[in-house]
Amino acid sequence: MDRLQKNIKLSTYTTLHVGGVADYLVEATTKEELEVALHWAKAHTATPPLILGGGSNVLISDEGYRGLVILNRITELSYKEIGGKVFLTVGAGNSLDAVIADTVEKGYWGLENLSAIPGTVGATPVQNVGAYGVEVSELIDSVVAIHRDTFEEKKFTKQECLFGYRDSYFKSEEGSRWCITTVVFVLSTIPAPRITYADLSMLAKESPSQKEIRETVMRVRSKKFPDWNTVGTAGSFFKNPIIAKETFVELQQQYNDIPGYIQENGEVKISLGWILDRVCGLKGYRLGNVRLFEEQALVLVADKNVTAEEIDSFAKIIEEKVFEKTKIKIEREVKNIFFKK
Ligand code: NAP
Repeated sequence: MDRLQKNIKLSTYTTLHVGGVADYLVEATTKEELEVALHWAKAHTATPPLILGGGSNVLISDEGYRGLVILNRITELSYKEIGGKVFLTVGAGNSLDAVIADTVEKGYWGLENLSAIPGTVGATPVQNVGAYGVEVSELIDSVVAIHRDTFEEKKFTKQECLFGYRDSYFKSEEGSRWCITTVVFVLSTIPAPRITYADLSMLAKESPSQKEIRETVMRVRSKKFPDWNTVGTAGSFFKNPIIAKETFVELQQQYNDIPGYIQENGEVKISLGWILDRVCGLKGYRLGNVRLFEEQALVLVADKNVTAEEIDSFAKIIEEKVFEKTKIKIEREVKNIFFKK
């Protein structure tokens, strides 16, 4: 296989800057190259290949990987306008933010609230990335993927993606065997500003432009989130919990100003950043090389030379502390990879 590299440190490819050495690594810039890499892995390695996009949502073990890592760098991009709708077909390896910048430039509405999120387009359907009142599931028409073991190519309709809050079919055991090659979004030429979140309230005037929304989101995020170019971070490390209404009412009795957002099914989404700060007093909490960010406690920040083991242990301590105080079992948004069970 062309451009196959051996003994490559994965820390270079993750935004937490951790991850040991992989036996093999290759970049796939087209669907065909991805297929070749999948066939190579089946023939030459005992373990399934790992597909990496921007590496912004993974915690890779210090032991690295005895197999093939495929960097998804498929970068096709095309627009098709039909009536007021715009079908945007994007290769999974494109940077999400670069694609959003392009849609804003062209005046195609939909993705602007997701500005400045790290990572590639291929990762967005997996965890149904969302921010400031918009989730990609609302904008996705379909997702094309290749099966890692059978090499079948399939177009998943939006319904087949089984989207939930930061969740989808692609996070399941079976779904994770599909390698996403292309995402098709449906955008609109008709302005549709979404500014219901308090962080965007300064835009509550007549019809803010797409550019104003993008710039505001970028400004807010630059204050609340650390710059992943300069420190080790994976953005929000944990998911915001969705809890039963009764549990929320009990919490309200103790913490009467706890914010909660009622979901369609009656459950309540609560802000874990708020709990970590106000209930657990953990904003800025540090142990060795790892800490919870001073501006937003949901974000874990790691110093240089940190190990994956250290981050994993730190996260377990946070999980325990939240459970002690609230009896809520929090879940990680970031996925542990190659950790021995
Ligand atoms: P935030 O704005 O402080 O909000 C904290 C929590 O409150 C989130 O669960 C958010 O829900 C919810 N919330 C706030 N205003 C709401 C409203 N008007 N209606 C319904 N729910 C509301 O959150 P943050 O940590 O600073 O993050 C800013 C945005 O970026 C949030 O939307 C967050 O979800 C998003 N984000 C997404 C990812 C990701 O997809 N991986 C990573 C980092 C941040 P939602 O989570 O549903 O927005």
